[in-house]
Amino acid sequence: MTTQTRARPCETDNSTGAVPSWDISTGVDGPGTRFVVFTGGCPLRCLYCQNPETWRMRDSRRVTVDELMTEIGKYRRFIEVAGGGVTISGGEPLLQPAFTGELLHRCRRLGLHTALDTSGNLGDRATDTLLADTDLVLLDIKAWDPRTYRALTGGDVAPTLRFARRLADLGRSTWVRYVLVPGHNDGDDEVDAVASFVATLPNVEHVDVLPFHRLGAPKYERLGIPFPLADTPPPSAELLEHVHTRFRAHGVKSR
Ligand code: SF4
Repeated sequence: MTTQTRARPCETDNSTGAVPSWDISTGVDGPGTRFVVFTGGCPLRCLYCQNPETWRMRDSRRVTVDELMTEIGKYRRFIEVAGGGVTISGGEPLLQPAFTGELLHRCRRLGLHTALDTSGNLGDRATDTLLADTDLVLLDIKAWDPRTYRALTGGDVAPTLRFARRLADLGRSTWVRYVLVPGHNDGDDEVDAVASFVATLPNVEHVDVLPFHRLGAPKYERLGIPFPLADTPPPSAELLEHVHTRFRAHGVKSR
């Protein structure tokens, strides 16, 4: 379900943020059933992005932390019983670090499990306090080679790798996510490089290898944006298993 609030001008501080929507989900957004807050704005433009409606902060509504906490409160008992928590996703939540930090802090104070879903591109904006209020980081490492990363996302891979190392130094629990896109980041060299890097991060519990899919294509159509991977097939079961095998060969748990 996605609940919406009325539109207001969009500015963000620690008490208000740009939030296109929120939702309840079970799966890759952290353990158990999650209340997921989608924040607005993202510096990257991943070719496979499933949430292009979150790209521009100005397209989002302005929502207060209090309003969101009221909403979260309605589901609190349900997500606790389901072993879940709250995930701040996007877009890119670290584009609004004060707002995201306050939200994580308030959830933590309620005793809710907290997760931050990020590309790490703006990891330098996450304060140690924000990370201390984060039980789990879901970190997308979208590729290793800087050219592959830039072609896939439009951005620079270095900040993500720097953030990954910092999370390890801080000992923050992390799940790495690797969206497998045939013809882009499915080469053995690419996968092996990510795997050998992750193998040096003792805080990473596992890697989620997520097969690219085209389910977001209708959103692009609605927004009048060409979907760049319209002709790219999802990875085959064999390719997916092959990539799992390569991660595991480096001692990295993958699923
Ligand atoms: S980082 Fe996430 S929200 Fe931003 S473009 Fe990539 S997939 Fe989309």
